[in-house]
Amino acid sequence: MSASCSRPGCQRNPTATLTYEYSSSTATIGVLATPHPMQYDLCDLHTDRLSVPNGWALIDERVTAPVVDLRDRFAS
Ligand SMILES: [Zn+2]
Repeated sequence: MSASCSRPGCQRNPTATLTYEYSSSTATIGVLATPHPMQYDLCDLHTDRLSVPNGWALIDERVTAPVVDLRDRFAS
């Protein structure tokens, strides 16, 4: 985990880790992890602005789909 965001000139606290997987052309945003050569810690601002090269997929593992239980909706 870095002390600050990886973007040049940005001193914000990192809130996520970006990992590039070149073999599958996938960029993954995950929770902060231990340092790795292919990982970059980013603050929330730069995570939101993140874009990936053409042909790459961006996966945000921080987002978990809300579980909606329809039974509650129709219970009464
Ligand atoms: Zn930043």
